[in-house]
Amino acid sequence: MADGSNSESGSRRLLGRLKAALAEPAEGQERLNRVVRLIAEEIQTPVCSIYLFRDPETLELCATEGLNAEAVHKTRMRLGEGLVGRVARKAQPINTADAPGEPGFRYMPETGEEIYSAFLGVPIQRLGERLGVLVVQSKEARAYSEDELYALEVVAMVLAEMAELGAFVGEGAALKPLHQQAVLLRGTVGQEGTAMGAAWLHEPRVIVTNPFADDSAAETARLRDAVDRLRVSVDEMLGDPRHAPDGDHRQVLEAYRMFANSKGWMRRMEESIARGLSAEAAVEREQTRARTRLEQVPDAYLRERLQDLDDLSNRLLRLLTGQGDETGAEMPESPILVARNIGPGELLSYGRTLKGLVLEEGSVGSHAAVVARALAIPLVINARGILQEALNGDALLVDGEQGIVHLRPEENVAKAFRDKIAMQAKAQERYASIRRVPATTVYGPTIALHMNAGLMADLPSLKNSGAEGVGLFRTELQFLIRNHVPRRDELAMLYGRVMDAADGKRVVFRTLDIGSDKVLPYMKRDHEPNPALGWRAIRVFLDRPGVMRMQLQALIRAAAGRPLAIMFPFIAQLDEFLAGRAAVHDELEREERLGRPLPSKIEIGAMLETPSLAFSPRRFFESADFISVGGNDLKQFFFAADRENERVRRRYDSLNVSYLTFLEWIVQRCEDTGTPLSFCGEDAGRPVEAMCFAAMGFRTLSMRPASIGPVKHLLRRTNLAEVREVIDEARGSGAQSVRPAVMEWLRAQG
Ligand code: PEP
Ligand code: MG
Repeated sequence: MADGSNSESGSRRLLGRLKAALAEPAEGQERLNRVVRLIAEEIQTPVCSIYLFRDPETLELCATEGLNAEAVHKTRMRLGEGLVGRVARKAQPINTADAPGEPGFRYMPETGEEIYSAFLGVPIQRLGERLGVLVVQSKEARAYSEDELYALEVVAMVLAEMAELGAFVGEGAALKPLHQQAVLLRGTVGQEGTAMGAAWLHEPRVIVTNPFADDSAAETARLRDAVDRLRVSVDEMLGDPRHAPDGDHRQVLEAYRMFANSKGWMRRMEESIARGLSAEAAVEREQTRARTRLEQVPDAYLRERLQDLDDLSNRLLRLLTGQGDETGAEMPESPILVARNIGPGELLSYGRTLKGLVLEEGSVGSHAAVVARALAIPLVINARGILQEALNGDALLVDGEQGIVHLRPEENVAKAFRDKIAMQAKAQERYASIRRVPATTVYGPTIALHMNAGLMADLPSLKNSGAEGVGLFRTELQFLIRNHVPRRDELAMLYGRVMDAADGKRVVFRTLDIGSDKVLPYMKRDHEPNPALGWRAIRVFLDRPGVMRMQLQALIRAAAGRPLAIMFPFIAQLDEFLAGRAAVHDELEREERLGRPLPSKIEIGAMLETPSLAFSPRRFFESADFISVGGNDLKQFFFAADRENERVRRRYDSLNVSYLTFLEWIVQRCEDTGTPLSFCGEDAGRPVEAMCFAAMGFRTLSMRPASIGPVKHLLRRTNLAEVREVIDEARGSGAQSVRPAVMEWLRAQG
């Protein structure tokens, strides 16, 4: 290959020899030795070495032709250290005629490499998984040619494929088998809870079993045929009327089409085949390049497009290998779904069979997170690396309290986890025993505990949790999981079924709360600089009353003779509430005119989610039949801290004195007008917070069903007057938060 006259046949010959060498049975170490020898010979260079990761931060020289043999398995470098470390860190080649002159050069004396001036190193990687570095060196001060670089990259990729298939397993940490080690991944909590089970990949990995092309012409024909089929399938999807002309989905499909017709993409893949790769390996090579770029581009739009390319490559690989979405694998008994991202509808179709959910990406406010919360499935998001590491069936522990995922855990970790789950189960038993008794505090009032819901699937919890009713039914979930606005009849039927399932217990239906984090895929919206402060909830409703009216009609029809409680979200001032209330009355009159049965009783309430409403005219408190504090939003606006921004969302304590004092003000205003008040944000489900809110005067709390037991358990053992004293004392002493004093008091109570 040194003559460079026929680079394609040169790479093909090299790959052909590599294939033959790897086909012979041998230990991993012996295979590596053969590989370096063979490459050195083919490229006609005195040195060829392979460095592999022994842990995510350390590379180890694992085989060499030309350097001191004694240095093998002894020479190590940190990620980023020296030229080899830099190749590994950047996942990009370094090709230099003057290695010692390169920034960051560091020579390893035990290898005897000081006499070699030219250096070419390429990453050994596959689909973003970094395995090591392949290096060639020579004495003459010459840069390796483009062809040599290309050939080495192709070889490195084949090595990565073969490593994936277990070709280089041997003694020592650097030759460990892949996908068998315990891995701990840190992500972000999406939904609390713990789960233990087996990984189930939403999109199973496509396994490329043969990276070599035996017949380049045949491989090229296979590739072209698969790409043709891909184009047809993308065009078909684009022709599907379900993909609205300007929906996000359509944008993704347009990007697919663009890539599928991209000449550059096709040319590069055909070139790879000409150099000896199979069609699948050629696709993967492009995918690996895209993933490397994905990690390096900060631009969100570009990243999304690269993501689209990645998805498209997966489709192409499935077409080539015939491995469809169905790989024939059986879903394990306690499946924990692993995905890059997942839509709410798809997640719902798995339903409660899932024990947990781990997402490579995702966000706390995503629809998937909303659904996971509704289904009470422990969810960890942003678990970077999970897609690369996890294989179907791998043992997986999801710690939704800490946002940690243990993949293939060591036995001691698994045992600690089992103990934790057993303890939780014990606590659940304790909670079950108090399910039917009220949350009566010691010498004090009884607190009404309701649950939050949003899906039909939530309703059985009404019985199991001991909730007195549904304090917040988030109606937007029904809108989020569809790809079109639901019809009035559909909604009326659904709301009716919810009331049936509630069996006489009160259900508070919150009207559609969209905007901000809850974006309907089929609703055209303008870009807003601050969506949380933007056109959302009641604001959308009042400006575009059509959907609201339809929803109100559906609710009224569903109630037919039964009591109905409607709550408007995100009311910031009096007139918004009055307008919402007037709309309900209009609809009631209309239904009456049509001769339809009306609800037996109607309550119209408001969510207090902006500080402004707490200071609104007395008339607001008089006109609302009830008020519910939406603490998630109220807290974000009170502290001006985005509830979805990881950096700030936990920054301010809900037991902060200013916040508690503000809540006390709301209680006071409601008491003045005799307006029933509840609290339905996430904080209501945290026992210590719930206890303090009760001490401040809240008599109704609405929370996730799973929180009712723990909250009731604590309330029943608490004297609220004493808690109030502790709070007042802490406030009086100038504390920022009452939490330390309250925790101290709780400890003293045992
Ligand atoms: C809230 O804001 O506290 C609330 C209950 O509503 P959501 O979380 O749906 O915005
Ligand atoms: Mg809210």
